Amino acid sequence: MKTAIYPGSFDPVTYGHIDIIERAAKLFDKLIVLVSINPAKPSTFSTEERVDFLRKSTKSVKNIEIDSNSGLLIDYLKKKNADVIVKGLRAMSDFEYEFQMALINKDMYQPAETVFLSANAASMFLSSSAMKQIAMFGGDISAFVPNCISGDIINRLKIQT
Ligand code: ADP
Repeated sequence: MKTAIYPGSFDPVTYGHIDIIERAAKLFDKLIVLVSINPAKPSTFSTEERVDFLRKSTKSVKNIEIDSNSGLLIDYLKKKNADVIVKGLRAMSDFEYEFQMALINKDMYQPAETVFLSANAASMFLSSSAMKQIAMFGGDISAFVPNCISGDIINRLKIQT
């Protein structure tokens, strides 16, 4: 059974992430979507909220598991007996960082292989941070996140005027 891990901050999940999740789930027997806790990168939403948003947004995908991790990704891979890391690539700006991370992970753990899936054209420019700014100012985020989580996101972020 081939298990792949899709790590990220998912702060919060967007249609860009969901597209990668749906496509990666078709390529592997099991996909673990991993909310990675990075103390150096403060998040807007708590780990529990990010996990909950991911669960609600991916109910239709059967072969996935949502989890969180505060340690090294390669230690998580070893624990799950997995060697594939899935990453989504938007523009060249993602490439440099993701390429560096792929090399570092492989250096630390030889079996680790990073598989890059290109963003689809519609979500090429979509990021969690851009979406959060729009929500903060009361803009329409229905094109960026599913309805089942948009209300919670708006309630948390909207600036009271
Ligand atoms: P960010 O905080 O930059 O939005 P995350 O850490 O949540 O990103 O992203 C996790 C992974 O998903 C990364 O590989 C990132 O490149 C990818 N990703 C993020 N947004 C998109 C998108 N709109 N389309 C495709 N992949 C994406």
